Order: sequence, then structure tokens, then C-alpha cells
Amino acid sequence: MFELNKFANIIYYLIKFMNPFSIVIHGGAGTIVKEDMTPALERAYSNGLTAAIEAGFEILKNGGSSIDAIITSIKMLEDNLLFNAGRGSVFTKKGVQEMDAAIMDGANLKAGSIAGVRNVRNPIELAYEVMENSNHVFLSGKGANDFAIKRGLKLEPDEYFFSQFRYDQWKHLRDSDNYSLDHTHQDLDELMKDKKFGTVGAVACDQMGNIAAATSTGGMTNKKYGRIGDSPIIGAGTYANNRTCGISCTGHGELFIRAVAAHDVNALMEYKNYTLQQAMDEVVNHKLMRINGEGGMIGVDAQGNTAMVFNSAGMYRAMKNSKGDFIVGFYKEDNA
Ligand code: ASP
Repeated sequence: MFELNKFANIIYYLIKFMNPFSIVIHGGAGTIVKEDMTPALERAYSNGLTAAIEAGFEILKNGGSSIDAIITSIKMLEDNLLFNAGRGSVFTKKGVQEMDAAIMDGANLKAGSIAGVRNVRNPIELAYEVMENSNHVFLSGKGANDFAIKRGLKLEPDEYFFSQFRYDQWKHLRDSDNYSLDHTHQDLDELMKDKKFGTVGAVACDQMGNIAAATSTGGMTNKKYGRIGDSPIIGAGTYANNRTCGISCTGHGELFIRAVAAHDVNALMEYKNYTLQQAMDEVVNHKLMRINGEGGMIGVDAQGNTAMVFNSAGMYRAMKNSKGDFIVGFYKEDNA
């Protein structure tokens, strides 16, 4: 009897002192409107987001770390052709896929980033390897690819990354100097009827109150000259700090770099005591809007609060937490 009471007490204290935990993911922001969608496509996006968030949440529920949870979710999105990351990455001006990714651990401010990487099946794993097993934070191009081989990461041939839709998107732009956010109509109206969007990202807070953030992308269609977007730049597209928040961005990368968007949310919380929601509103709906920076971001704080804010028509997104909330949304009117 005594043993049973003791056991019950331990469980009680574990639950009482367990940090509320949560995970949020995105699959890109942009011109995501109901008129352009079909029920089948909505279902496919919803299934992809749901499977990825459930897998990450399961890890948190079992006491796993926020780092493990976000890597698991991001890998599933990278493997899904619907999203502009890993397998579904867009084509560059040269007609290949060059991928960027970053991960950050809010417990110690450790970070790993890679840019312009080719043929790596899961770029987020390479970013993690840079963080954990190199003396560096950011590797690019051939050096990053060589490091992937050295660490024994899975590589795939070019055909693995081919999709007709992405190819058609690129064909439309390749003879011009234009590049395109994967998520906007711009001059792609016809093609975009069948559009498949999105850079992917994940942020989580685990039972220990540790926060992590990660982002993975193919960048923008027809990008050239080794262009690198905001996603792998720590502080621009990705940031995590246990004292404040974890943030992953999606949108027009050049503007997010100029706004130092992800770190700005951290700074407003750390130095000005903004809440997560207030800080994200300020950056997305004011600072970015002033320079026409279209897009959005997802965030989590150390109490497990979450937010999903965007100034575009929509953002593929999902969140799940230990209070039992579960949301999947695409459009503005989904109001989540
Ligand atoms: N932010 C990414 C970039 O500029 C694109 C995206 O979010 O889809 O590379």
C-alpha cells in the first residue's frame, strides 16, 4: 500500500511540474485561397500536415526532446512532394534543386545551417549534423555536400527530386530574370491552378521546457547565382531561445533577412516583455508589411503557448499541445 501511494505521489509530482508541451509546423505561406483548391488537394495537404504533427507530438508526449520532435516532423514534410523542401524542392535557374535548412536548440543557443545543398534526402538531418558534429554553424555548397557524405547521410539521385509540377513552374520562368516565391500567383496564373506550395518549418517546446526551431526549403523557383534565402540564416528565418521563443518563418526570404524577422520576435520578448503573440504580430503585420515582406511565421514560447501569424492570404499550418488543442489550417478564414 505504501509503495502504491509513493508511486501515485511520484506520478502526481511529475504531472504537476511537467512543462506544458506543444508543437507547431508550417508548410509555407502565400496565395493560398479556397478557390484554387480542390477537395482532393485539401485532403492531401491536411493528411500531410496531420501525419507530420502527430509524429512530432508523439515524441513530446513520450518525454522526448523538442529537437527530436521537430526533426521527425520536418523529415516527413521533406519526404512529401507537396512541400517545397527535400523531395519536393523547386528548380533553380540551372534546372536543379539546391536546398537550404537550419535548426536551433534553444537550451544552449547551438545552431546548424546548410545552404545550396544537392541530392541530400533530408537536409534537416545535415543541418543537425553541422550543429552537433562540426565546429561550425553554417556550411554551404560543395563543403556541405562533402560533409553529408562524411556523416553518412542518405543521398538520392536527381530523379528522386523531380516532379512535373515543379518542372512546369520553372519552365515558365527559366528564360526570364524573374524568380518566384513558390506560393504566389505572380504571372503563373495558369500553372498555379494546380499549385503545391511550401517551405516547411517546425517549432516545439518539450516537457522540460526546452525550445527548438527548424526550417527547410528549396528556396524560390528560378533562383540563381547561389542565392540563399532566410530559412538557413539564424535570426532571419529560424531562431530558438529557451528564455523567449522558437520561430520558423516562410515567405519572401530577402525581406525576412532584411527584417531579421525571427530574432526580432526574440528581442521584443527578451528586452520589451512582449508576449509571443504580440511580438509576432509586430514583426509580421508591421515591420515586414512596411517593406512589403509577404509571408508568415510559427512560434512557441517556454510555457508551451503557440502562435501562427501571416500577412499573406494563407499559410499551411498545424499545431498540437498538451492541453488537447489540435488545429490544422490553410486559409485566413480558418482563423487559427
Ligand atoms: N523563405 C523561403 C526563401 O526565401 C521561401 C519560402 O518560404 O517558401 O527561400
